[in-house]
Amino acid sequence: MSEVTLFDKTFEPYLPESLIQEKIKELALQINKDYAGKKPLFIAILNGSFMFAADLFKSISLEAEICFIKLASYKGSKSTGNVVTSIGLDADLNQRHIIVLEDIIDTGKTLHEFLPQLTNQNPSSLKIAVLLHKPDATVYPIKIDYCCFSIPNRFVLGYGLDYDGYGRNLKEIYQLKGSE
Ligand code: 5GP
Ligand code: MG
Repeated sequence: MSEVTLFDKTFEPYLPESLIQEKIKELALQINKDYAGKKPLFIAILNGSFMFAADLFKSISLEAEICFIKLASYKGSKSTGNVVTSIGLDADLNQRHIIVLEDIIDTGKTLHEFLPQLTNQNPSSLKIAVLLHKPDATVYPIKIDYCCFSIPNRFVLGYGLDYDGYGRNLKEIYQLKGSE
């Protein structure tokens, strides 16, 4: 793995492909155990989680469904700040076991604002699975049920995660060079 430069920034190798794949397989095995006899519905949040969701789902041996949603946040007209809307959430969540798949939890704001839209629909259970978590960046604490990697508070790139739209196709995860 060598350095990658995008626009004005240089990124250095951080998590190799083999380690990412190993952790995702472990996570899938755990979910297969925990949900034995159940038919969970995975909800993957686009764009960042598409690779994580695809690789994880290949190792799920349950009778499971997956759907994809996109979250759009924008400045609301009220002082409550950003509003998160879901685009494409057409599945019926009533009485379903839901597992939300997210690429990374940083401040926790996105999920903090979005999760009530899921709990409102009366699922039987709701768990969160993430590829990456930055515990030091937490502003809105989220209960994370499954996590592949806890990482320092540094900007990362690759394996679905972008810098200004680019870099999602990298098989490995990189971090911003020189950041502490
Ligand atoms: P939060 O709402 O938890 O602060 O942030 C969640 C979203 O911010 C993630 O889904 C992701 O899109 C973006 N994000 C947070 N940290 C990083 C990072 O280190 N790299 C990239 N590429 N995106 C990030
Ligand atoms: Mg995301």
